[in-house]
Amino acid sequence: MSPLLIRKPGELRELSRRWRKEGEIVGLVPTMGALHEGHLSLVRRAREECGKVVVSVFVNPTQFGEGEDFERYPRNLERDRRLLGEAGCDAVFAPAVEDMYGGGTTDLSSGERVFVEAGRLGELWEGEERPGHFRGVATVVAMLFNAAEPDRAYFGEKDYQQLKVIQKMVRDLLFGVKVVPCPTVREPDGLALSSRNAYLSPQERRAAGALWRALREAAERARSGERDARRLERAMEEVCRAEPLVRLQYAAVVDAETLERLGALGDRPARALIAAHVGETHLIDNAAL
Ligand code: AMP
Repeated sequence: MSPLLIRKPGELRELSRRWRKEGEIVGLVPTMGALHEGHLSLVRRAREECGKVVVSVFVNPTQFGEGEDFERYPRNLERDRRLLGEAGCDAVFAPAVEDMYGGGTTDLSSGERVFVEAGRLGELWEGEERPGHFRGVATVVAMLFNAAEPDRAYFGEKDYQQLKVIQKMVRDLLFGVKVVPCPTVREPDGLALSSRNAYLSPQERRAAGALWRALREAAERARSGERDARRLERAMEEVCRAEPLVRLQYAAVVDAETLERLGALGDRPARALIAAHVGETHLIDNAAL
């Protein structure tokens, strides 16, 4: 069955409140559309755990920097809606930019709007590559939480830093929603599924497998006893250097919660983060160490 299509935040809130009054658990899966199996795995998980599932499809302008791909980001709501129906989603929330940010203030950088600052977590790694990105993410997710009032919200580990920023926002700002992290879905060669993979040429697509190979190299070395974070980082760099189409931005061994760089692996959980340009396309990935 085709899921309900909702455009206005107020309508979503009304629907969600009605469901909750009927005793349903409401799950939210925020996405930017151009859906793939990674997104759908979140939807299926939500389906298992919630009586009602809302998926938002919104390409959020405030998380894109100047010169990034906001305009050309793939959009295909009809296809997304069909896939979401098959995955058992109850409602698709697909607002226009004006429905979220108001028609009057088209200049979102005018300094007039209220934003959610992502703090230190939002300044590291992707935050350094893309200034303001996590401020835009935290702000739109806060808005989606306010519009959908979900009991549970599902986020992919694929965007690990984003997951950490959202978890921190929920703790710090006392949102009453449970954040559920979901494992990364990968292609057979390990490349994490991403809507941006569609930008890759066949050669770039082949080269992009290096990100996962680098992460696996670090994870295997860590498993065999390597504790020195620099050596693990250098091993990742070396894997990427073998692919001329891959321009590495960072390959870092970090504390899994604070995302601060580590000198050595210790007792606390660690994570390897990687980001690269493959051709013009910006790709990120990560793995537990
Ligand atoms: P996006 O549409 O890229 O904003 O992603 C929407 C949600 O899907 C985010 O929580 C992502 O982390 C998650 N996601 C994207 N790609 C994957 C993947 N390959 N595996 C699991 N989750 C993913």
